[in-house]
Amino acid sequence: MRQPLVAGNWKLNGSRERIQSLLDGIKAGIGEVNNAAVAVCPPFVYLSEVKTQLGGTPIALGAQDVCEQDEGAFTGEVSAPMLKEVGCEYVIVGHSERRNLYGEGDDLTARKFAAVRRQGLIPILCVGELLIEREQGITEQVVARQLDAVIELEGVEAHADAVVAYEPVWAIGTGMTATPQQAQDVHKHIRQQLASKDEAIANDVQILYGGSMKGENAAGLLAMPDIDGGLIGGASLKADDFLAIAAAAAQG
Ligand code: PEP
Repeated sequence: MRQPLVAGNWKLNGSRERIQSLLDGIKAGIGEVNNAAVAVCPPFVYLSEVKTQLGGTPIALGAQDVCEQDEGAFTGEVSAPMLKEVGCEYVIVGHSERRNLYGEGDDLTARKFAAVRRQGLIPILCVGELLIEREQGITEQVVARQLDAVIELEGVEAHADAVVAYEPVWAIGTGMTATPQQAQDVHKHIRQQLASKDEAIANDVQILYGGSMKGENAAGLLAMPDIDGGLIGGASLKADDFLAIAAAAAQG
């Protein structure tokens, strides 16, 4: 049985005041959510204080990105050893905003994935197609290429301690959600791709869906057999919505 995971990606949002009120809301309701792991991924500068706030709760801390290098002259970057030191358990790599707005390709994403694993942290590897790629019927090839870049560098065994997030780019922040069946088809394909190399790892790996998941549409998505949770953007900034998704995951 795969335990569901719901991770909130706060992106470039928040202030001390806003984060305090969001965390108060999440903490107040998290006791009702049994059976699903929950994580929040604040901007780097707030990681330490959010970690303190999460003390005594089951909520894990994650980061939104990482440098592929562990230390050195890389101005503006944050390393995996630093993320470990401040208490992160998860690190998102290859988010489509990193890939498409900052030109991060498959190779760099794979090296970030490796940097996260070197510290014993859990990478959440994002994969997903652009709208044009879906229209061209190449969704499966795109996702396979993104996954293969990591498998080539780190081996399929790396997925024993990693999470995959399928995030169709056309659904992120647009309000357009993949239908449960559209998402399930790609999740199944990802699991089959891993199974062709190692069946046990494929059976155990958590594959999250991301792309305009909300309280209202979460149950349908999370009921699908290969959808093991969600990576949540916009809805993770509203405590009630985030908790509703986590509750749906716990039941899914
Ligand atoms: C995301 O950016 O990972 C995401 C899923 O965003 P949203 O939920 O806002 O579509």
